[in-house]
Amino acid sequence: MLKILVYIHAPAGTPTKGQRELLALAGSLGETRAVLGAEADEAALASLSAAGSTGFYVAAGGIDASLLLTPAVSLLEAAVRDFEADAVLLPNGIEGREIAARTAVRLDAAVITDAIDVDTDLTVTKPVLAGSHTVKAQGTRGPVFITLKPNSIEAPETDAGARAAASLHELSIEATAPAARITSTAPRTATGRPELSGARFVVAGGRGVEGNFAPVEDLADALGAAVGASRVATDAGWIEHSAQVGQTGVTISPQLYISAGISGAIQQKAGMQGAKCIVAINKDPDAPVFEIADLGIIGDLATVLPQAAAEIRRRK
Ligand code: FAD
Repeated sequence: MLKILVYIHAPAGTPTKGQRELLALAGSLGETRAVLGAEADEAALASLSAAGSTGFYVAAGGIDASLLLTPAVSLLEAAVRDFEADAVLLPNGIEGREIAARTAVRLDAAVITDAIDVDTDLTVTKPVLAGSHTVKAQGTRGPVFITLKPNSIEAPETDAGARAAASLHELSIEATAPAARITSTAPRTATGRPELSGARFVVAGGRGVEGNFAPVEDLADALGAAVGASRVATDAGWIEHSAQVGQTGVTISPQLYISAGISGAIQQKAGMQGAKCIVAINKDPDAPVFEIADLGIIGDLATVLPQAAAEIRRRK
């Protein structure tokens, strides 16, 4: 039986959808243990074991978050050695990729990012060339570190009451002199919206919003969606860079992606064409985005977006 580790950066009372996806995939491949990148209380352990983890690795003495990701890398390295893991699954975000890369270097092991599926022989399916092709890839030595794109795997809701017995393994991690340390932390303005990379619904705006993201944000709030953007919009400073969807931004695969005032350049498509349903709003009937849209609306976003938001609120 394969041994699979899942890296959980921030365990919480109820696992996030992304965490459940990682555990569901790991459970379909073999015996699963979770490596916890932060302290977890009983409720978090119960819900993670109900979601499929048969054991947990934690750092003896806790994780010093001021040392950025270095302690998590050390913990994961120690857990891979202890469990003799065949594969490690991590989220495909910036932290997951960094931890995968740094730990794999220490273990002289393989890294495959952007996975959308993993077979039982650890063959990984992933999109390449701005999403125009998929390839299958395998690690050739060591445990393979795989970062999984959100919304690629069906993850059932879990019932923390169904917790199975799970082992707890405390590992000592080396206290090396830190190369970098966090000196201060300032919270970003909370929007109350879901995080873009794992959101089920996304409403995105491009050059067509002409600097005014209010109609995009209003429809997002009516839907409970995250807000995305094209590079033109983020380069112009109309919205923060973290909202950029595309080749040099975030790659997402939500259930629904509403594109407003975005032409659909190949670099934008690279980040959103994995969406299950694409709705495009554009006043140019020849805009390339209509080639991949499930539903196209030819119109002015300043009219269409408020109408959509009002109708959604009316039906709630
Ligand atoms: P435009 O292409 O100018 O399109 C604006 C669209 O809005 C038009 O189709 C127009 O008809 C429509 N419109 C205008 N007014 C309205 C209105 N009132 N109502 C409805 N529709 C309206 N781009 C990304 O998005 N993400 C990336 O990650 C990315 N990475 C890149 C990496 C590289 C190396 C390069 C070279 C480019 C990258 N780009 C990226 C840029 C990309 O090539 C396009 O320039 C960009 O996506 C265009 O943004 P846009 O669709 O908002 O603007």
